Amino acid sequence: MSNEPFPENCQDCDSFSRCCFGHEVLECPRNQEAAEAVRQAKLVLLIAPDRRLREKCSPVPFINETVVALGRFLESQLDPLEAAGLAAPQFGLLTRIIAVRIDNQTTRAIVNPVITRERGEHFVYEACRSLPGRQYKVKRPKIVKVKGLGLDGSAITVKGSDFLAQVLVHEIQHLDGIMLDTIGTPHPVV
Ligand SMILES: [Zn+2]
Repeated sequence: MSNEPFPENCQDCDSFSRCCFGHEVLECPRNQEAAEAVRQAKLVLLIAPDRRLREKCSPVPFINETVVALGRFLESQLDPLEAAGLAAPQFGLLTRIIAVRIDNQTTRAIVNPVITRERGEHFVYEACRSLPGRQYKVKRPKIVKVKGLGLDGSAITVKGSDFLAQVLVHEIQHLDGIMLDTIGTPHPVV
C-alpha cells in the first residue's frame, strides 16, 4: 500500500473534494442525509472481545458525504465518551477514519492517517474505551507526525508530542486491529 494518504478520485464526479453533485463536500445537502443515516444507524461503542475490533480497516477511496458524516460523528462522540480519541472500527465501521482532541477547543477527524515520523520513546499508562476498567503500560513515541486528509479532502499534517502523540498512535493502531491488550502489560487501575 502506498505511504501517501491521497485518495483516488470519485468514480462518478472525478473529484475527491467535491461530491457527485459538484458541491463542496462540507456544504453538500447530501451531507445532511448522510449525517441523518449515521444517526439512524444508532452506532454504539464496541467493547472487547468483539471481533470487529481486531480487523484491519480499509482505506477511504474518496471523500464523500458519508465519510464526512462519519468523521463528524466520531468528533461528536469524544465529549460524551470522555475520550481523547476514537477510531471508526470502535463503532463497527471498518474504515480508516479517526478523530482526536487536539486541545480543549479543537477536535480533528483524520481520514487515512499515516504516521510519517516518530521520535523518542517512553512508557506510559493507557486506557481504551473499548477495554473498560483496564489499564496497560505501553511504549509510545514522544513525538509523531501524521499525514492524512481532512473532511474537506485537503491534505493535512498533524504533529503531536507526549499525550497527543500517544493518542494518535493509539487510534491509528485501532485501524489495524491492534489494541492495548495485545501490545501492553496489564496494570492495576488505582
Ligand atoms: Zn482505544
